[in-house]
Amino acid sequence: MYPERIELNGHRFRRFLTRQQIAAIVERLAQQLRRDYAGVTPVCLIVLKGAFVFAADLLRAAGIPCRVETIRARSYGTAMHSSGRVEIQPPELSLAGADVLLIEDIVDSGLTLRELLGFLRRQQPASLRIVALLAKPSAQELQPQPDYIGLEIPPLFVVGYGMDYAEHGRYLPDIYALEEPEQGNPTQERTSFAAVDLSQTAE
Ligand code: 5GP
Repeated sequence: MYPERIELNGHRFRRFLTRQQIAAIVERLAQQLRRDYAGVTPVCLIVLKGAFVFAADLLRAAGIPCRVETIRARSYGTAMHSSGRVEIQPPELSLAGADVLLIEDIVDSGLTLRELLGFLRRQQPASLRIVALLAKPSAQELQPQPDYIGLEIPPLFVVGYGMDYAEHGRYLPDIYALEEPEQGNPTQERTSFAAVDLSQTAE
């Protein structure tokens, strides 16, 4: 078990979701996918790098026959806030006529998702749905919304379970939230730790 509080790259983080809580969220999403993809063999498109751990658990929990492909979307670089620019590295597999399920780790401003959706629609898939493990409040203004959201969280910066801070912390089995304001930017609103209402994860 990793400690309650950790330091990554000079920043303090505190445990926000345990692996058991994450597993419960993933199981609920997996049930929804089993129901909605019965008789369909989707292309599960994993958004790298952050969604690789989530996708590995989700696909095994769902157990639906599918093809797996990756797409790379870079919006964060090494900072905690979006650079406002999204680079897309396209998948090798043709998505024309495919039932595409896009697997995202976290939706914040929605910029990455908007760019990805624009790119994917041009490939003319038969259907396109989005599953995101986490979504921040700003994602609520997003159109269209992800079809499946594991958990809505406060506007925190989180790491672990595939998500990084400057490439650190992806290996952590639990999800941690930043405890302090970003250094060097005192005017920025404090991204304080807040408990999340896990009742949302109940069936
Ligand atoms: P958006 O474009 O929606 O603002 O951001 C989406 C991408 O930014 C996510 O796929 C993820 O890679 C990254 N991101 C957004 N919020 C967080 C966060 O709290 N922690 C980490 N590690 N990455 C985040």
